Amino acid sequence: MRRAVYPGSFDPVTFGHLDIIRRSAGLVDELIIGVLVNHAKTPLFSAEERVNMLKDVTKNLPNVRVESFSGLSVDFLEMCNARFIVRGLRAITDFEYELQMAQTNRIMSPGIDTIFLTTSLEYAYLSSTTVKEVALYGGDISRFVPGIVADKIAERVSHIKKAEKTDNIS
Ligand code: ADP
Repeated sequence: MRRAVYPGSFDPVTFGHLDIIRRSAGLVDELIIGVLVNHAKTPLFSAEERVNMLKDVTKNLPNVRVESFSGLSVDFLEMCNARFIVRGLRAITDFEYELQMAQTNRIMSPGIDTIFLTTSLEYAYLSSTTVKEVALYGGDISRFVPGIVADKIAERVSHIKKAEKTDNIS
């Protein structure tokens, strides 16, 4: 069984992530999307919300499973009995960090290999951070994320804006 894990924050999932998911799912028997629970960062969406959005947008891909995890990716891979880490490369700026991570992971777990997929050109500019910024300033994000994700972001942004208004009044 050729099994891979695609780890990331996915806060939230974008068309760029989905492109990598579709393409890497075609390379392996099973792809597990590992949603990282990072206690050092405050995400826009909880791990459970991120997992549910990913489940929703990958429901047409039968060999894709979504789980959350905390700690080291290599430990999660060993737990899942997976041998490959999937990562996407957008630009040269991603490369330095990704190379360092891949080499570190290989030192920690020599049996695990990282597979890099270069982003499709139409998504090369896209990151979850940009999507959140555009949404916070009222921009249209429908070209960046699936409809159900855009709706969730709109809901969260309006909640944040309401809370800010209440704070300013009091
Ligand atoms: P970010 O917050 O940078 O969007 P994540 O931590 O969720 O990213 O990313 C998980 C993986 O997905 C990383 O390998 C990242 O390089 C990759 N990735 C993110 N956006 C894209 C994209 N638009 N095209 C290809 N790969 C991407």
